[in-house]
Amino acid sequence: MGTTNSSAEPSFRESVDIMFNRAVALMDLPAGLEEKIRVCNSTYTVRFGVRLRGSMHTFVGYRSVHSEHMEPVKGGIRYATSVNQDEVEALAALMTYKCSLVEAPFGGSKGGLCIDPREWDEHELEQITRRFAYELIKRDLINPSQNVPAPDMGTGEREMAWIADQYKRMNTTDINSAACVTGKPRNAGGIAGRVEATGRGVQYALREFFRHPEDMKIAKLSGTLEGKRVIVQGLGNVGYHAAKFLSEEDGCKITGIIERDGALYSEDGLDVEKVRDWLGKHGGIKGYPDGLHHADGASVLEEECDILIPAAMEGVINLSNAHNIKANLIIEAANGPVTAGADEILRDKGVIIIPDMYANAGGVTVSYFEWVKNLSHIRFGRLGRRQEEARHQMLIDELDRLDRFLGDKWSMTPNFKESYLRGAGELELVRSGLDDTMRAAYASMREVWHSRDDVPDLRTAAYLVSIAKVVDSYRAKGL
Ligand code: GLU
Repeated sequence: MGTTNSSAEPSFRESVDIMFNRAVALMDLPAGLEEKIRVCNSTYTVRFGVRLRGSMHTFVGYRSVHSEHMEPVKGGIRYATSVNQDEVEALAALMTYKCSLVEAPFGGSKGGLCIDPREWDEHELEQITRRFAYELIKRDLINPSQNVPAPDMGTGEREMAWIADQYKRMNTTDINSAACVTGKPRNAGGIAGRVEATGRGVQYALREFFRHPEDMKIAKLSGTLEGKRVIVQGLGNVGYHAAKFLSEEDGCKITGIIERDGALYSEDGLDVEKVRDWLGKHGGIKGYPDGLHHADGASVLEEECDILIPAAMEGVINLSNAHNIKANLIIEAANGPVTAGADEILRDKGVIIIPDMYANAGGVTVSYFEWVKNLSHIRFGRLGRRQEEARHQMLIDELDRLDRFLGDKWSMTPNFKESYLRGAGELELVRSGLDDTMRAAYASMREVWHSRDDVPDLRTAAYLVSIAKVVDSYRAKGL
């Protein structure tokens, strides 16, 4: 899965370009500017060797910069065997449009390393990551004011901590070194709520969609999120958090979960936490005791449901299966899960797609909060003094209860108590900031969608809003 299997299917980057072109055809831009925005400014390829298990292994990595209309440029680093130049360039372009849409003041970038992280142990991955980071830092492709990576598929807090540390070693006097990368662990300059952020953003995006009966009607949906049947493809960080929050907090029924080695399906709803535990222990869903097991995972994409959440790879909904999709609403938690061709087929079928650049913008939004936190050198989450005191007492009581409950199984250190008290404020702040961002971006997209007859869908609307903002910043620079 993940690759498209029809020769008529354009590559991922071409697919993004087709969608971009569809939108700019509705704008009145000088051809030169259109071209300037569309193309990737540069892509750096590096091949480096690391001595591991007694021999030299060569790795290929990329960092692509799509648009520098704002700096630093921003975007994750992906670890996967499928990583290639076309892919990182497509992902970098999507970062430009995503940041612009949610007004995170960054240009777009993306990186990737061609590697299967499961083949290497932690110590080896650290060596590989540090070496890759070294190559990028040397060229200012990791730098707090130039280019700020973050996690993506196959990477997480751990890799970001190694990158931050590597930058610090190479720039010992840079007081802003922590801001060279986001998605760091809390104790290494990270921010509360970054790990859950993309999934949380998907939840907030859906809640926002369901606040608009008119939009729901177009998707042939009604009521609330309660009881809606949801199929999630990919139970990685994004899919897991989206499914968890939607089922635990909004009453959605997760009827299908698709993973690398097959899929689970249950009309009554699957227990997300239990499936995630199983995946953690067994490396796949095979053998999971509840629900129907489908060896051909992709077939579950075509099951009856209300909401389909592709949350893993690009291109999973393509010319070969778009006709068979039965969901009314697709929310693109992954980047580029629907190819340009499939997009048209689905539109003709009346399926509503909440586009990637909006749907998964929660990650970069909270990355922005983290970057600001690092640069401002203040701690987040401080409320006014009186509110702070009231909340503080409430949290202390809560902690005492937890302490008593834990008994002598685990003794709570004063540091833990302190960070818990501090962290709670920060998490609230992060979540409400994310919610505001998702609401405002939806409003801007929706306005264009409904006010213009020539705008056929939310994706085109998202492109229009976002390109217009990129154009504004080029104009402001006198270009
Ligand atoms: N990799 C994530 C994305 O595709 C996060 C990027 C970031 O936080 O900079 O949006």
